[in-house]
Amino acid sequence: MKTPRPVLIAGGGIGGLSTAIALDRAGLEPHVLERSAFAEESGAGIQLGPNATRILRNLGVLDALLPQAFRPDAVWLFDGLSGKKLATVPLGEVAERRYGAPYITVHRADLHEALRIVATAGERIALTPDFAVAQVDHEDGVGVTSSGGETLQGTALVGADGLWSTVRNWVAPGAEPSFTGATAFRSLLPRTTLPVPFSAPIVGLWLGPRSHVVHYPVRGGAALNVVAVTESGHEEQGWNRSATRETVLGRFARWCDAPLGLLEAAPDWRAWSLFSLQPLPQWHRGRAVLLGDAAHPVLPYLAQGASLAIEDAAKLAALLGAARANPAVAYPAYETIRRRRARRVQQTSQRLGLTYHMGDALLGEVFRRSRNAILGLRDETATLRSFDWLYGGPDFEG
Ligand code: FAD
Repeated sequence: MKTPRPVLIAGGGIGGLSTAIALDRAGLEPHVLERSAFAEESGAGIQLGPNATRILRNLGVLDALLPQAFRPDAVWLFDGLSGKKLATVPLGEVAERRYGAPYITVHRADLHEALRIVATAGERIALTPDFAVAQVDHEDGVGVTSSGGETLQGTALVGADGLWSTVRNWVAPGAEPSFTGATAFRSLLPRTTLPVPFSAPIVGLWLGPRSHVVHYPVRGGAALNVVAVTESGHEEQGWNRSATRETVLGRFARWCDAPLGLLEAAPDWRAWSLFSLQPLPQWHRGRAVLLGDAAHPVLPYLAQGASLAIEDAAKLAALLGAARANPAVAYPAYETIRRRRARRVQQTSQRLGLTYHMGDALLGEVFRRSRNAILGLRDETATLRSFDWLYGGPDFEG
């Protein structure tokens, strides 16, 4: 059934495009307003758990994505100071059998392009580039004004405009992200020339004092995405800046040769400051609602921010579809369900960050050794099972 006005979506990133595709399938008319050109240029990789790939498959996106994706066999955990391998968490076929969908690693541009292709083919979907939502207007419906002064009216407005959301300024005025003091340095290397374990078909996770390094294949296995996170330095404000090799290596001076060799081999680096946001008092106001990083940015230690945005999209579209785009019916249920899920992911991510980064100062060294010993004792599949609540999807209560 046609709605009299479209559901406006501010932001055509991962969450916004997923919402548009899901709303189209629910019979509504989404109109995505993106300030840039629907192209992801950050040059970074992303991990997607079965909780996200299951939804992408239902939305018809996974098939378009798989040729560019990689299915890692496992996560290998290492101590970044000693180089010792600490544990293996099986992924690959084990995870796919258990959760009914694959664990994949992809380049963000490939994910974005697959979403854009499916959205462009969507019968009821309109995509407008170069429309930066500058203001939310609220009369009988909901309207937005662009930075160029153009206005549009919709039956509902979804704020999928990321960490620095303009829609959030209207829904929850005064909520501002704060810098965590941590920075993620990112680079991409050709994979074939690298030694094991960097050429292995795995996600590698190296743990160190107030820092960690993650690497995994992207671009169908042709390239290796490397992310080096450090808590040192409070001056690293800004987003997606370039960084020198010396800056990155300086933060990992105490690390052992193997991961240092990888950091040295990286051709260039981008720095991505990590921000957090206090839980919002509300996720919706009038006909406007928030989704993804606009509602609940999550630190990257669990690699779930985009996956949460995709889950939000599926749930919001299902509820709006059932309520025939009536926000009064859909939004309270959406917020209740998704707030609980996002909170659990945020808290787990924060806890994992503390565990990854143990080892600073004397007491930290004791914790680091205990962590390593415990990781070494854990049964591999038991570790995977401890993530059933996450990878099994929001309705999985393990
Ligand atoms: P975004 O992807 O930021 O999209 C927002 C969109 O809105 C953009 O296209 C932007 O141009 C547009 N926009 C902004 N303002 C306006 C406006 N006013 N008007 C119109 N358009 C606007 N997540 C994972 O699931 N797995 C990972 O492995 C992972 N790794 C990460 C590593 C790092 C270092 C970091 C920092 C994050 C990582 N994440 C990961 C998190 C993930 O990147 C985000 O959670 C995800 O991109 C959020 O999607 P979104 O659609 O809410 O926002």
